[in-house]
Amino acid sequence: MQSITPQQIRSSFVNASRSEAAKLTLPKDFDSLDWNNLDFLGWRDEKMPLRGYLVVPGPTGIMLRAPEGGARKNRSVLCELCRDVFSKEDVLLWVARRAGQSGRNVNTVGTLICADFLCCGNVRKEPPANEINPDPAAVVLRQIDGLKDRTAQFPSRVQAK
Ligand SMILES: [Zn+2]
Repeated sequence: MQSITPQQIRSSFVNASRSEAAKLTLPKDFDSLDWNNLDFLGWRDEKMPLRGYLVVPGPTGIMLRAPEGGARKNRSVLCELCRDVFSKEDVLLWVARRAGQSGRNVNTVGTLICADFLCCGNVRKEPPANEINPDPAAVVLRQIDGLKDRTAQFPSRVQAK
C-alpha cells in the first residue's frame, strides 16, 4: 500500500471517536515500515493491549477490541484475512464497533484475525512445493491477491447499515 502519515491514520477511522483516534499509539516501527510489502497496516496499541487497529488503503481505519483475557493458545481457527495455515501466531476474535447509528446501539462485528496482524508477512512466505502447487512463488502471488481482496471488503462489514 502507499505510505500514509500519522495524521491520515488518525482521520481515517470510521468507528472511532475523535478522541479515541487522537489517543491511539502508532506502531513502534512506524518510521521504518516497509509499505511495499504491506496490504494493510494493522497493529496493537502498546498502551492499550486489548485495542487493535486496521487501516486499509484509502485509507479507512477500523478500531478493534481483543477478547478479555488475551490469546487463546490454539491455531484451530484460521485468520479470515490471510487464511495462513502455517503460522504459529494466535488468532483472536477481534470485535469492531459498527460505524454510525448502529455503533451507538452497541452493534458489533467479530472477525478472526491474527493476534499481531502479521497477515501481510504470512502471505508472502512461500509454502513448500507440492504436486498441487508446484510453484511456490505463484502461490504467494495468489495469497497476496486474496488478502488484498478480503482486506478491501472488510470496512464495508463495519459500515453496513
Ligand atoms: Zn492473518
